[in-house]
Amino acid sequence: MLTTSYHTHNRYCDGEGEIAEYLEAALDAGLEAIGISSHSPLTFPNDFAMRAGDLPAYCAEVERLRKSYAGRLRVHLGMEFDFIPEYAAPMWEIVAPFRFEFMIGGVHFIGHDAAGAPWAFDFTRQRFEQGLREIFGGDTRALVSAYYERVRSLAEWGRVAILAHLDHIKTWNGDGRYFSEDEGWYRDEVEATLRACAQAGLIVEVNTSGWRGSSARPHPSPWIIRRCLDLEIPLVVTADAHQPEHIAAFYAEAEAMLREAGCSATAVLREEGWRMERF
Ligand SMILES: [Zn+2]
Ligand SMILES: [Zn+2]
Repeated sequence: MLTTSYHTHNRYCDGEGEIAEYLEAALDAGLEAIGISSHSPLTFPNDFAMRAGDLPAYCAEVERLRKSYAGRLRVHLGMEFDFIPEYAAPMWEIVAPFRFEFMIGGVHFIGHDAAGAPWAFDFTRQRFEQGLREIFGGDTRALVSAYYERVRSLAEWGRVAILAHLDHIKTWNGDGRYFSEDEGWYRDEVEATLRACAQAGLIVEVNTSGWRGSSARPHPSPWIIRRCLDLEIPLVVTADAHQPEHIAAFYAEAEAMLREAGCSATAVLREEGWRMERF
């Protein structure tokens, strides 16, 4: 059974509920370890990331809970770092003074909107279409390629252990309305990105939130997960929980999919670092 859930949000960012409620949900789901990973503070206005001023309270709260749950649940202090190359240095300066046990890296922004602000492609389908039109002139392939190029830069950056939702760019592509994952150029982008992950020693996340979303498929898609296994890229299953009840959502589906692909071990965080353990 899968017994870890390292990618979770809470009231410090855009998640619902207290951190302690996620811990209780983890125990109820039979988990042995949980990671707390709020969205890293951003250096421009937004309504979803943690505020830099809340970092000391966030870290102290996780530390307090880690102690009170000792022996029942392993609690790890982490963060989902939003990788935006032009802001990465000042954003890293904000979090660097704190002792995070692990960092998940994710790409949610590409290019800039008409007002000059970084453009997030995953808020709403309407905003996705607006950016596709205004930033990429309606060229889906250019948009998707820019996304994967940014993910490869994140892999090369080297400061995160886990790559979040590798094919997040398919968020609004549930019915294949923008591109086909079978097209050669798309496969080439994914292959180059997987090779960058392998080269960097990154753990790739099997993020079950895609099953909750409009694409109704995990991130990344099953064919990419099989390719990760071919390339011996370590995997970890996460729920990207934004509500306590998401803590192990679609874990049975993820486990069945991994077993079917011949995978029987995932990355687990221990005191000495990440290691592969059978599930
Ligand atoms: Zn994310
Ligand atoms: Zn997340």
